[in-house]
Amino acid sequence: APPSSEIVLRVSGLTKKYGKRTVVDGLDLAVRRGEVFGFLGPNGAGKTTAIAMILGLVASHAGRIEILGHDVAQGYGPPLRRVGAIVETPAYYPYLSGRDNLRLIALARGGIPAGRIADVLAMVGLRGRERDRFSSYSLGMKQRLGIAGALLHEPELLILDEPSNGLDPAGMVEIRELILRLAREGQTIVLCSHLLAEVQQVCDRVMILAGGRAVA
Ligand code: ATP
Repeated sequence: APPSSEIVLRVSGLTKKYGKRTVVDGLDLAVRRGEVFGFLGPNGAGKTTAIAMILGLVASHAGRIEILGHDVAQGYGPPLRRVGAIVETPAYYPYLSGRDNLRLIALARGGIPAGRIADVLAMVGLRGRERDRFSSYSLGMKQRLGIAGALLHEPELLILDEPSNGLDPAGMVEIRELILRLAREGQTIVLCSHLLAEVQQVCDRVMILAGGRAVA
């Protein structure tokens, strides 16, 4: 489906300071349902800090965040239940299988239908390897399992912060193809990256961040 006019994430005037340094500076953005929105910028541009504020992991100094029409100032709980995210490398139990790691997330979240674990494993191309220990996975497989975990509760918005971090070219292709497949199924995605090529190949729209400000 083409992107609709519905805004699933709206950020206005978002600002964060560490000491005297402003690392996110009056950021405005709007993400439409069904689009892949790229958040591009060099290391230190403020991408992770902005995402961490959107997810309620870091406090902001100013600004407004609306997720699926909810102002997070009214509480993060209800809107975040409809968001899935991975921030850099997801941490899983190394000695458990991929499937058992997902079972733990499903238990912790609650309300995940029994068949959903098999569905997300298929979506990320890990069927057949789900009984193998997490520690035996390649980095690309680990990252795909991370995305599977973020998809378990069928989030309306998926936020991926540097999903290709540390991956070799083949691993990057795996992640790119997965993002494109999810996008074709209508998944709304925010993709943070410092890699122009990655963003260029999968995103509908891109914001370029530098020094905490949107420059393009
Ligand atoms: P990267 O791709 O390297 O993760 P980024 O665009 O995500 O880069 P951030 O991690 O958001 O950038 O960092 C933005 C700026 O904020 C950097 O200058 C960083 O040093 C600073 N910063 C981040 N977290 C903290 C912190 N807890 N205390 C002090 N400064 C911080």
